[in-house]
Amino acid sequence: MTMNNLEKYRQKRNFTQTPEPGSSREQPEDLPPGVDGRFVVQEHHARRLHWDFRLEAEGVLKSWVLPKGVPQEKSERRLAIEVEDHPLEYIDFEGEIPEGNYGAGQVTIWEKGFYVLLKKNPEKIKFILQGKYLQGAYLLIKAGRAENHWLMIKYQ
Ligand code: MN
Repeated sequence: MTMNNLEKYRQKRNFTQTPEPGSSREQPEDLPPGVDGRFVVQEHHARRLHWDFRLEAEGVLKSWVLPKGVPQEKSERRLAIEVEDHPLEYIDFEGEIPEGNYGAGQVTIWEKGFYVLLKKNPEKIKFILQGKYLQGAYLLIKAGRAENHWLMIKYQ
């Protein structure tokens, strides 16, 4: 993962056209005690419907695209394709990205909550989600030949 790098995010977008946030706060908002950050799942009706899973960490939102959604049942696993870091403000983003722009289509927030980090290394992130629909222990683990392919697994 590239640390705290929003350059890619900015390069892909034209902020005179897209309603997506362009800049970033450096600091996340205050968190309730005992949690390590926020997460969001955005339902994105782009050319192909997918879900974007984002974890607040290192001053950005670490981001994955899940073509088939986020696992909700124990032992479910879903492909999660790592994409460019997004700015912290993106956690609240909902709206219509206009035709002709990167990711054109409707974005809505499907789920939002907090997470507790259990373990993290370059190949593996273990955490507990505290959301409305997503609760319990999850694992994101590098998988497959492609550098940006991960699996998201609900293991508890
Ligand atoms: Mn997306």
